[in-house]
Amino acid sequence: MIATTDCWGPYRSGVEECVAACEDLLGRLRRSLAGEIAGDRLYFCDKAHGLRDAAQALVDRADDIEWWLGACPETMADGAGCGRAAGHPGDHRRDGECREQQLLAAARSQAATSRRQADRLAWSLLAVRAGAGP
Ligand SMILES: [Zn+2]
Repeated sequence: MIATTDCWGPYRSGVEECVAACEDLLGRLRRSLAGEIAGDRLYFCDKAHGLRDAAQALVDRADDIEWWLGACPETMADGAGCGRAAGHPGDHRRDGECREQQLLAAARSQAATSRRQADRLAWSLLAVRAGAGP
């Protein structure tokens, strides 16, 4: 008999929403290329950046779900969950107060900052090139 448990647990709808956002943007890109909707490159570029961001959100959501499904089941006196891995040694730590979660949040923030800076640089260089003329 095939197992009927959902490996996504209560997080399935969140993953589905992220996938739908990617599909929507990919569909816009395909329709733009086919000339069915805005066929200009700026529209396409904007939606391509949107797809990248939506895909990053999907990756982050999938990673978050791995954290959540593998988390310690302990609940603190104030109702906050423990953010450490199931079976961890040592004391329980509130969700968001354990070092590994803080490192992940810092890495994601740094990655987002780097992407924004790279986008700004690319747009600035495109503006310079556009102004340079033939
Ligand atoms: Zn714990």
